[in-house]
Amino acid sequence: MAAPWEDVLRNKPAIQEAVTVAVDAALLEGVLMRTEGEPNASDVVNYAPFTLLPSAVPSALFEQAYAVQQDFNLLVDAISQNKEFLEHTLASTIQVDDFTAQLFRIHKQVLEEGLAQSVFLGINRSDYMFDCGVDGKPALKQIEINTIAASFGGLTSRTVAVHRRVLKVLGKSEEASRLLPNNPSKGLALGIAKAWELYGSQSAVVMFLVEEVQRNIFDQRCVENELWNRNIRVIRKRFRDVFEKGSLDYAKRLYMDGQEVAVVYYREGYVPENYNQQNWEARLLLERSRAVKCPDIATQLAGTKKVQQELSQPGMLERLLPGRAEAVARIRATFAGLYSLDMGEEGDKIAATAIADPNRFVLKPQREGGGNNLYGEELRQVLEKIRDSPERTSYILMDKIKPQPSMNYLLRAHSPLEVSECISELGIFGVYVRQGKEMVMNEAAGHLLRTKAIQHADGGVAAGVAVLDTPYLV
Ligand code: ADP
Ligand code: MG
Repeated sequence: MAAPWEDVLRNKPAIQEAVTVAVDAALLEGVLMRTEGEPNASDVVNYAPFTLLPSAVPSALFEQAYAVQQDFNLLVDAISQNKEFLEHTLASTIQVDDFTAQLFRIHKQVLEEGLAQSVFLGINRSDYMFDCGVDGKPALKQIEINTIAASFGGLTSRTVAVHRRVLKVLGKSEEASRLLPNNPSKGLALGIAKAWELYGSQSAVVMFLVEEVQRNIFDQRCVENELWNRNIRVIRKRFRDVFEKGSLDYAKRLYMDGQEVAVVYYREGYVPENYNQQNWEARLLLERSRAVKCPDIATQLAGTKKVQQELSQPGMLERLLPGRAEAVARIRATFAGLYSLDMGEEGDKIAATAIADPNRFVLKPQREGGGNNLYGEELRQVLEKIRDSPERTSYILMDKIKPQPSMNYLLRAHSPLEVSECISELGIFGVYVRQGKEMVMNEAAGHLLRTKAIQHADGGVAAGVAVLDTPYLV
């Protein structure tokens, strides 16, 4: 995809001027992050990293990604209600992966007790790259779907204005006017507000469950603001606050400090490091409650890499979404090759193939948050070591997606300005609300484009690798 800005990319004075404007615009618009040095204070903040220029995205693939989002919402929701599927799919994983096993134990316990929750809220983000096939035609391929704590819907709502300004400064007003508006924070908030309303208690609050270290607080504040604007009270608490001050009444209503909680929106709880014994107890308390969890633990499990791999098995989507052939076809078209490393002949074979040709694959453990996957020589070494051990079942293999790079400037505070060869990842936010068996909301709520230099195989914005971007449709 040729970037439409080739003419200005090497024009250093023009670029320098645009950078100055861009950084101030980012601060002005609120594209902000707390600093590494003071991650829990807002006294010193800086701009969140972003590209100087919007990146080209093929419009057909962009539309395809939006068109399949409601299907993915239905799929995730269906999986979360399918006890047998989750049990069967995660059986081998929970033997070797303690984190998934612990989540699964809570899931089972809550089901055995009987669900107190009757309203369900899903906020997810389906991520894609544009794979450059042998024919050179780019294809939309899903990287993963994030069903818990999908971030940057807030900050990305504010980056369009920055990129519009940059293009104008560079004399590209016409192109600036073509950048699409994008406001996931509003869409996410509308989902939370709907769930809050259906919960049915005017005095109840929405609780954002947040991390101990909150560098990305402004992203969350964007969503929070939308709720306050609708007169919905938001509180921010950590697991340890829940452990100390959370309680359930006789009807399993959740209270924090005497305040009833209608919705728990997790921006935490997706990696093992988020938990100690107390935090697990707090998680169990929340899951047992009547409050709407976004996501409930079953939906979190639906977002595991192992589930993603199982979905690519022949006939699986048809079983999960009966009578929805068109949705199934749209979903399947976005799948890259995914392979199980379960013990057995099939697993032996694909492990051998990957060891022989590691650059064709990505090796993924059951982890979220970036920086966990293995590539190339490292993939080969690890797989060679575990190929005959059940440990290999804690990973899946995936075909490596190979996008066409393009040139851009990645702006990061305190970093030198240099042009980089980059690739992008497009995410679409999905929001849905279900009451009992009835879907009352099912939407695509906006998008996120993240871009990184090609030398980084892995890692997102929070991990300091990717930066925020805006799609320029071509
Ligand atoms: P995480 O849950 O850690 O975010 P992902 O599956 O999103 O895990 O992988 C992290 C990053 O690794 C992605 O953002 C992408 O840059 C890269 N990646 C993941 N899968 C592939 C793939 N199949 N081909 C190429 N790059 C990939
Ligand atoms: Mg990811």
